[in-house]
Amino acid sequence: MDGPAVESRFEPWLRSFALDGFIHLHVAAVMEGLPEFVQTDFLTDRGFRMVDYEPGPGVVMRVPVASPTFGKPSRAIVLKRTLRHRPIDFVRYVIAHELAHAHLYNRGRSPDEDPEFAADELAKAWGFPKPLR
Ligand SMILES: [Zn+2]
Repeated sequence: MDGPAVESRFEPWLRSFALDGFIHLHVAAVMEGLPEFVQTDFLTDRGFRMVDYEPGPGVVMRVPVASPTFGKPSRAIVLKRTLRHRPIDFVRYVIAHELAHAHLYNRGRSPDEDPEFAADELAKAWGFPKPLR
C-alpha cells in the first residue's frame, strides 16, 4: 500500500504562478518529466514567469516581463486555457515545447538551428513528442 501522497517539489513554485487548475496539473506533469538540470534551471530563475489566459474577442494578453536578473534576459511562457479542449498528449507537447523555447532563450541549440525545430526536438527528447494528427 502506498503511503500518503508527498507534494512534488514543484508545487510551491508552480502555485506562485496561480495558473488555472487544468493548466497547473499538466505543467506539473511535464515538469516531472524534464531532466533534473532543466527543472533546476526553471526553479532557480527568479525572472521566469508563466501565465495562462482565456482567449476571446478583445482579449489582449500582456506577457509579464521580470527585470533581467544576473545579466540573463528574463523568460516567460504564455498558455491558452483553451488547451483544455485538446487531447492530453497535445496539451503536454505544447507545454514542453514552450518550456523548451524558454530553456533555449528562444534560440536554436546551435547558432544556425531553427528555434521551432529545436523546441520540438527538445520536447521530444523530454518525452513529449508532437502528436501525429
Ligand atoms: Zn514554438
